[in-house]
This record gives sequence, structure tokens and C-alpha cells, in this order.
Amino acid sequence: MSLAPGSQPGRRSLTAKQAGLTLAIALLLSILAGVIELALDARSMRQEIVSDTRYRLDLVHGTAAEAAFQLNPELAAQVIDGLFNGGRVASAAITDDFGRTMAARQRESDPVSGWVAHALFEDILHYRRTLHYQAGSDNPPQPIGELELTLALDRLARDFTDRSLLIFSLGVAKALAIAALLALVFHWFVTRPLLRVHAAIVDTDPRQPGRWPKPAMGRHGSDELGHLVDSVDQLLQAFQRGLDQRDQLHQISTMDGLTGIANRRHFDTFIEREWQRAWRNGHALSVIFIDIDHFKEFNDHYGHVAGDDTLRAVAEALAGVVHRASDLVARYGGEEFVCVLPDTDLEGALRVAGRIHERIRALDIPHAHSTLAGRVTASLGVASSRPAHDDTGIEELMAQADGQLYRAKHQGRDRVAAQT
Ligand code: GH3
Ligand code: MG
Ligand code: MG
Repeated sequence: MSLAPGSQPGRRSLTAKQAGLTLAIALLLSILAGVIELALDARSMRQEIVSDTRYRLDLVHGTAAEAAFQLNPELAAQVIDGLFNGGRVASAAITDDFGRTMAARQRESDPVSGWVAHALFEDILHYRRTLHYQAGSDNPPQPIGELELTLALDRLARDFTDRSLLIFSLGVAKALAIAALLALVFHWFVTRPLLRVHAAIVDTDPRQPGRWPKPAMGRHGSDELGHLVDSVDQLLQAFQRGLDQRDQLHQISTMDGLTGIANRRHFDTFIEREWQRAWRNGHALSVIFIDIDHFKEFNDHYGHVAGDDTLRAVAEALAGVVHRASDLVARYGGEEFVCVLPDTDLEGALRVAGRIHERIRALDIPHAHSTLAGRVTASLGVASSRPAHDDTGIEELMAQADGQLYRAKHQGRDRVAAQT
């Protein structure tokens, strides 16, 4: 067939399309999942920050209260330094109950421009604890100062960005892996068998579609791919039956029903084609007319069935003598036959005619009512031409052969006559 795999300009492979589509869908889904995951992560990060900060404040509360009670700035400074160890603190201070700063520390922090960080963390940046001192278990705790702490928004924003990037990169990596896997699976299970079906259709000989290399679909035998192959097969078999019927009809229409050799219709198209060819190539073209002698008497005395047998025997004898692939033996009508001999001059045609004459005699079919040899004989007229122009000479050639046949009859039958 004229479909050649991979020859269409701009053709894109099914596998590439599948891979692209799968990748796009996987990326979209991973982005959606990433956004949801980020929202959940932001919530848990806020909870972590709050509980972590409270825990740290709880840890230092006793020491900070001790420092405030003793009015000990060194101890207060140690508490503040301890709070800075975590890295997320922007500023911290301990004040006594008169509001005087005992120790304070502040870290340079970068301004944060993104609204997301402000929206997420602004409300959990500031912490204030009142420091209490309890003088004996009977006395209620007395406020003796304050511990204040502010978290660094830039650090929190950076941590959040790092976590987001990690979540997104993992999501993209997962999407890529899923897309590659799906593309591979689709290629293996769908595209590859489809390509095999396509290759089989491409390899199909349009003259013999019924003998196409039907692919064995294995595990796809009962699924849509298997059904596709079965449908293509049924279609091609129907196509083949149509071609066979056409060939049969063609053969029937060009064959003589009684003798099985070519009929008059086939002869007409054949001689026209050969005439053209001989004209193009400058070759000779010869025809031999054969007419059985006194055949009417034969029929009259031996009957039509015996007459038909004789016609068949003569046709077979003719086909036995004229056997070159390029030659044609046809029944011209009644008990008349004709041979067309391409690339054959008069001399060659005369030799063939002589052999035909002899072969019919050699059949030795009794014909007691013939005035000739007592057996079936034939008269032959031979003519040859070297076509000079395209088609007007055919009738002339036929008339010449017919004239020679008439001459053979006139001269006494059972002979070959040729133009001189
Ligand atoms: P001639 O020697 O001059 O050719 O004499 P002829 O009797 O052969 O010629 P004619 O044309 O007078 O007769 C031809 C006969 O051929 C007539 C018919 O009986 C016979 N014939 C024609 N077609 C068939 C056929 O299909 N079957 C049979 N059995 N006979 C046929
Ligand atoms: Mg006749
Ligand atoms: Mg005759």
C-alpha cells in the first residue's frame, strides 16, 4: 500500500503525544497537590513555631524570674543569649517591675516584602511573659518583671520558602516519574501493538489483500485492538473476494465457453494492443485464419456433439502449437479460429501455419464425408504486416488473411495460403 511509516511530513508520534499529555496532566495535578500541601504545611509550621517558642519561654521562665528578682543583669543577659540560640529570634528583653531594661538584644533583620509571609506569621511574632516570684509557699506569686520576645519574620519567611521549594521540587520529580512511567506503559500496551497493525497494513499487497500479514495480537486478542485487527481482516477478505470475482468475471468474459481458449472479444482488444506495440517497436505482426473444411457435413453426419468435440480438439491442437507467451489463439466464430503472432514475419508465420495444418491432420478425426483426406482437415490463410501508422492497418491485415483463407479454400482446401 502507499502508506509508508514515518514518511508523512510533520507526523508526530503517538508516544510523544501521550508522553506530553501525561506530563502536562501530572504537572497540573502536582501543582494543585503542592498548593494544598503547602497550605497544610503552613498551618502546621505556625503551630510548631508557637509551641516551640512557648516551650523555650517556659524553659527560661524560672531563670529569668530569678534574674529579675535578684536584679542581676548578667543572669538576665545569659537568659537572653540562650533565647537567641534558636536563630529565629529578632529581639528579646527582660525588664524589672519598674519597667527598666535589665538585658536586651536585637538582631539585624532584612525587610520582608512578600505579603504571604506577613499574612502567615505576623500574628505569631510577639510574645510577652510576666515574670513572677513566689516568696514561700503560703504567699501568692508577685509580678517582678517581664520577658519580651519577637521572632524574626525574615527567618520564618526564609524557612517557609525553603520548605515550599522542597515540596514543589518533590512534587515535580514525582510528576516526571509518573509521566515517564505512564508514557512507557502506554507505549508498550497501546502504541506498539498499533504500530504493528499499521506496519502489517503497509506491507499488504493491494493485489492480494486477503493474504495480508495479519499480526498475532497475543494478550490483545479479545480487547479493542484484537477486534480492530479482526475487523481489518474481515474487510480485506471481503476486498479479496471482490477481486477474485472480478478476475473470474474478466476471465469468463474473455474466454470461449466451448473450447476454453480466448474468444472474439479478447481477440479484438488483443490485436489492437499488439498492433500499437508493433507500430511503436517497428516489429512485424502476423495473423493466421484457420477454417475447418466441410464442417457442415461433419455436423450433419456425426452430430453436433461430435462437432463440438472436434472444435475442442482443434482448439487444443492450436494451443499446443502456438505456445509463445506473447502469441494468442482465439475462436473467431463457428469453426473458425485465428492466431496472432507478434514479432513474427511472414516466413515465421508460414512455419507456424504449416505446423498447425499438420497437427490438425495428425488428430486423425474421421470425416468420411469430406471429399478430402477422409479425416478432419483445415484451410489456413496467413498475412503479415509491419505497421506503418497507428491503427488503420488492422482491418487491411485481417482482410488479407481472410483473402488468403478464401484462396486456400478455392485452391482445394486442406492447405496453407499466404500473400506473396
Ligand atoms: P468450408 O470447407 O467451405 O469451410 O465448409 P464448411 O461446411 O466448413 O463451412 P460453412 O461455413 O458452410 O459451415 C460451417 C459449419 O460449422 C456450420 C455449422 O454446422 C458448424 N458450426 C459452427 N459453429 C459450430 C459449433 O459451435 N458447434 C458445432 N458442432 N458446429 C458448428
Ligand atoms: Mg467457416
Ligand atoms: Mg469451414
